[in-house]
Amino acid sequence: MDHFTLPAAPERPSGLVGIARLAAASPKVRDRAEVEYFSLESRSTLNHESSGHMPFDWTINPYRGCEFGCKYCYARYTHEFMEIWDGKDFERKIFAKVNSPDVLRAELRAAKDKGLAIALGTATDPYQPAEKHFEITRRMLEVFAEFEALEFSITTKSTLILRDLDLLGVISQRHRFGVHMTVTTTNERLARLLEPKAPPPAKRLEAVAALAQAGIYVGVNAMPILPGLNDDSAALEDLARQAAEAGAKFIYGNVLFLMPSAMKQFMPFLEAEFPRLVKRYRLLYARSAYLNGEYKEQMMKLVAELRSSYGLAGNREELRLATRYHQFALPFDEAPERAESAGLVTPCNEAV
Ligand code: SF4
Repeated sequence: MDHFTLPAAPERPSGLVGIARLAAASPKVRDRAEVEYFSLESRSTLNHESSGHMPFDWTINPYRGCEFGCKYCYARYTHEFMEIWDGKDFERKIFAKVNSPDVLRAELRAAKDKGLAIALGTATDPYQPAEKHFEITRRMLEVFAEFEALEFSITTKSTLILRDLDLLGVISQRHRFGVHMTVTTTNERLARLLEPKAPPPAKRLEAVAALAQAGIYVGVNAMPILPGLNDDSAALEDLARQAAEAGAKFIYGNVLFLMPSAMKQFMPFLEAEFPRLVKRYRLLYARSAYLNGEYKEQMMKLVAELRSSYGLAGNREELRLATRYHQFALPFDEAPERAESAGLVTPCNEAV
C-alpha cells in the first residue's frame, strides 16, 4: 500500500500531532479518477457539537473530505486540521474512517446521558461516492439498529441513501429518526455549477418521495441560501412546493456561512461564473462569515411563510413533536475528537 505524502505547507510544524499524525500514517487504499481514498483510524465517532447554533448535540462523520465538491462548502477547513492546505484536496483526498462502526457500538454501549440529538453527516456527506465502496454509513446504521430510543438524523444530498431503505425502516421503528435531504435549488443548471458532483435536485426530490413512501420521516434542507443566486422568492417557493409534493414533512433554510477557507474556493468561482455578484459578496462578508441583519431576517421570514403555505414544519421543536419519540436518555462521555466540531456550524446542516 502507498502511504499518504503530506503536501508542502507553509508554517507546517515539524512534529505532527493528533489527527494530522493519524492522517499522515493513513494508507492509501483506493484510486478512482482524480480521487485518492485513505483508510483513517477512528478513535471516536461521536463529536460534541458545542456551538449552540445547531439543532443537535452530537455529530458523526464517517468520512473526512467530500467528493461532491460544492463551491460554497466551508468544511474544507477540516482538511487543514490534517495539515492539508490546498482547499481542492478536500474533494480529492478522502479519508474513510473504516473502523468507526465498531467504535460507535462501543460508545453507544458506554453511553450515560440524556436524549441528546445525534446528527450523521454534518461536516461531510455520509452518502458521498466513497460510501458505495466502503459502506461505513451502512455499517453504522446496522449499529444504530441494535439500539433503541435514540434521537437521530441523517443529512445528505445523495440518492445513495435509498440503498439503505431496509435499515432506515428498522431505525424509524426504534428511534426518533429523520432524514434531511439538502436541496439548494430546483434549477438544474445552477445546481450543476454550485454542486458539480452531487446528484441533480430532481433526483434528490425523487429520493425524498421514495423515503416518504417508505414511511421515513423526511424533509428538505434548503440551505445554504446564497444572495443573488438561489434566494429569489419564486425559486424558493418552487422548492418548497416540490418538497411538499414529494412528501417532505419539514423545510429548513438558512443563509450562506462563508468563512475564509471557503472564500478561497468560492470567490474565484463567483468571479468566473457570476462576476456581477462579486462586489456584493465582498461587502456582505467583509466583517463576518455569518450573515446577520436585514437580509437574513427577510430570508427567514420568507422560509417561514413558505412553511405555512405548504404545511411544512420547521424549527427543532416542531421536529421533536412530529417525530415518534419524546426526549430519551442518551448517555455519552464527551468524545476526544470534539475539537473537530467545537464552535462550528456545518456546510450541509447549517444553523436553523
Ligand atoms: S457542502 Fe456537503 S455535500 Fe457539498 S462538498 Fe461540502 S460536505 Fe460535501
